[in-house]
Amino acid sequence: MTEITRQHCKDLDAQDPLAAMRDAFHLPEGVIYLDGNSLGAQPKGARAAFDRTIDVEWREDLITSWGKAEWFTLPERLGDRLGRLFGAAPGQVVVCDTTSLNIYKALRAAMGLRPERRVIVSEKASFPTDLYMIEGATMGSDYETRLVEPEGDIADLIDADVAAVLLSNVDYRTGRLLDMERITRLAHEAGALVIWDLCHSAGVLPMEMDAMGADFAVGCTYKYLNGGPGSPAFIYVAERHQAEARQPLSGWWGHAAPFAFEAEFRPVEGIRRFLCGTQPILSMKGVEAALDVFEGIDMQTVRAKSVALCDLFIRLVARHPGCADLRLITPEAAEERGSQVSFAFDEGYAVVRAMIERGVIGDFRAPNVMRFGLAPYYLRYEDMFDAVEIMAECIAARPWEDSRFAQMAAVT
Ligand SMILES: *Cc1c(COP(=O)(O)O)cnc(C)c1O
Repeated sequence: MTEITRQHCKDLDAQDPLAAMRDAFHLPEGVIYLDGNSLGAQPKGARAAFDRTIDVEWREDLITSWGKAEWFTLPERLGDRLGRLFGAAPGQVVVCDTTSLNIYKALRAAMGLRPERRVIVSEKASFPTDLYMIEGATMGSDYETRLVEPEGDIADLIDADVAAVLLSNVDYRTGRLLDMERITRLAHEAGALVIWDLCHSAGVLPMEMDAMGADFAVGCTYKYLNGGPGSPAFIYVAERHQAEARQPLSGWWGHAAPFAFEAEFRPVEGIRRFLCGTQPILSMKGVEAALDVFEGIDMQTVRAKSVALCDLFIRLVARHPGCADLRLITPEAAEERGSQVSFAFDEGYAVVRAMIERGVIGDFRAPNVMRFGLAPYYLRYEDMFDAVEIMAECIAARPWEDSRFAQMAAVT
């Protein structure tokens, strides 16, 4: 095996077509940020967007900004721009609420479109909020939830009783990427609808939601999309479902005539019926600034760099004697993974904490997963090299014997 040198990594950076994108972000000095899948880095344009909103739109123009600054249409304007990143034509995406809420809306809408069916399919290893929201959406009814085991095949669970299938295309722990087209086709052949949770793929994986005939999708904007802490989520509803689809959070923003103040709910035509109430305008401005960074960026180029960064990271760890005890749990084949690399290691929590002290920020997911989300917009190949060197030094220092790392922090 040839050795991978730091110089080799720097050479790759010199040829990187996305290298300039890094300049669009604030990155703290001395930090290698491998947690873009939890909270993306701050786009430099964010401050100006917030300042304009606070200093002019809110302070000077006050209530008139709902129209003048087009606050009222932000959900669909941002939704249209976001949709381009995953192959959704305009008019099918709104930016609003949280992913958890949007899962609830999509689930109940899908259940309503398949009223004779009583089964929801998801996966046992799902990000828990998705399963919690299934519980809430089926509360007090006779729905059955079928969960596929980590090694199981979803195809075995889909039959003519299934109303909806709710899946994350990229697993938040392992980074495994599902075959979205195959699963969408299988579900449709059985007459079921699919809700894709794109939290770990939106902004980093090219997808063709319209072309694959997707039904619903949801996701957050604060991970790979870099919208800022708690920035609102999104929901995609294929145009062909919009006229029939009804969601239960029937607030006035989804009304056909919100300012007529009618006593009864009448859903507006189109994707806006998936809104509930007044949206957090300041937070939405973070999403707007984040989407500016993606203007003119080709998602295939993003994917190519994401694959190359992950490949490099995996190879660097595999050949480093100091990392011999880590077990790769992310699929090695690029087409089977998202933009993260995860390792199982029983002392992983202490190692991740020690790495953070050294400026390499990854995260830990119980019970033993060290997780590194590699955002191709602001990471360099050189960073992969340095991160693995520091990781090996941290492991060698046996941080799990250090009492400072014995206690798990509230947020990992
Ligand atoms: C991050 C994440 C969420 C987050 O849900 P919120 O309601 O925004 O807190 C939901 N689902 C998945 C798969 C996630 O990765």
